[in-house]
Amino acid sequence: MSNINEKLQQLKDQGVYRVLPVNEGPCEAIIRLNGKDVINLSSNNYLGFANHPRLKEAAKNAIDTYGVGAGAVRTIVGNMDIHEVLDQTIARFKHEEAALVFQSGFACNAGVIQAITDQGDLIISDELNHASIIDGVRLSKADRAVFKHSDMADLERVLKEKRDQYNEVLIITDGVFSMDGDIAKLPEIVKLAKTYRAMTYVDDAHGSGVLGRSGRGTVDHFGLHGQVDFIIGTLSKAIGVVGGYVCGTKVTRDWLLHRGRPLLFSTAMMPSAAAAIIEAFHMLEESTEYTDLLWDNAKYFKKELIKRGFDIGHSETPITPIMIGDEAKTVAFSRELLNQGVYVSGIVFPTVPKGKGRIRCMVSALHTKDMLDRAVSIIDDVAKRMKL
Ligand SMILES: *Cc1c(COP(=O)(O)O)cnc(C)c1O
Repeated sequence: MSNINEKLQQLKDQGVYRVLPVNEGPCEAIIRLNGKDVINLSSNNYLGFANHPRLKEAAKNAIDTYGVGAGAVRTIVGNMDIHEVLDQTIARFKHEEAALVFQSGFACNAGVIQAITDQGDLIISDELNHASIIDGVRLSKADRAVFKHSDMADLERVLKEKRDQYNEVLIITDGVFSMDGDIAKLPEIVKLAKTYRAMTYVDDAHGSGVLGRSGRGTVDHFGLHGQVDFIIGTLSKAIGVVGGYVCGTKVTRDWLLHRGRPLLFSTAMMPSAAAAIIEAFHMLEESTEYTDLLWDNAKYFKKELIKRGFDIGHSETPITPIMIGDEAKTVAFSRELLNQGVYVSGIVFPTVPKGKGRIRCMVSALHTKDMLDRAVSIIDDVAKRMKL
């Protein structure tokens, strides 16, 4: 084990070794972190569903009906009626032909990409795509190419150079990029895909429950229903529970039931999770109040930061980075904010490029204006004191 120990020591020497903070209660706008109440600007619980009474009630009832475990993988006997209802609920909500739920967004990317591509195919991926896409691509037998972040000229260059050498081509992008909060140029990507006969794959983990009508996602935001081949979403962020899904055609779903490896080799989602998620989608179908509140808060928070001269990059969503640059300063800023009662994570290399350190503020529907005011004022005070 000395080898691993040395690597850990290197992390410590570089100042990037970390101890996990411990949240002693539910994921709320104010959390008790390491024994101290702080404003939580770090969770993906965009709509406040993670501790919502309606979801909790649905989960408790499902435990009474189904127990706590599914008992097997979906393809053997773990496929309960509640999993089928969940798939149908998601397909209906997303206005897509079919949906299939996986145990997590990560598992979904790990399973779907390798199942829908093969030797002789090419995967073209945005350079800022999520780690689970990168790992998913690694599991595929297809060749891979990367295009510069949201650079359509660069994407077209790759397509022009390589299209004819391959059977199928799959273009993969995040719907909303998690470190900058910018939205993929989906209409242009779809257009290029049509021109060059490529398939499209959007991982909308940070777009689902956030963008589009009542959180129907990036595809809905751009009015592109029926034009994106594979739409991935997570049930762990805005939906507040756990899980991932792919939307597409019935043929896609059918194929993945046979070749989606996490589905074949890992036990089905807890039935109580499925029940809570179904309730969440009912709430989004009933009302836009949750997403309205989220956007209201996000716009307010960004406006207040910009007023005070902060650089929030090119964020277009509730993900609000504050650009700092220097790694050590970013880490020190985040640490001091926590001391002052605001928990916002510092993001540095290798998650973002060297010299592009930032703190990343995640606004949710749970925050009150008063909490946001307090957070902005603390951020402003600490930044001034640290001369950032
Ligand atoms: C968070 C995230 C995932 C992983 O989702 P989980 O459900 O938490 O596993 C996948 N893709 C993207 C783009 C993400 O941001």
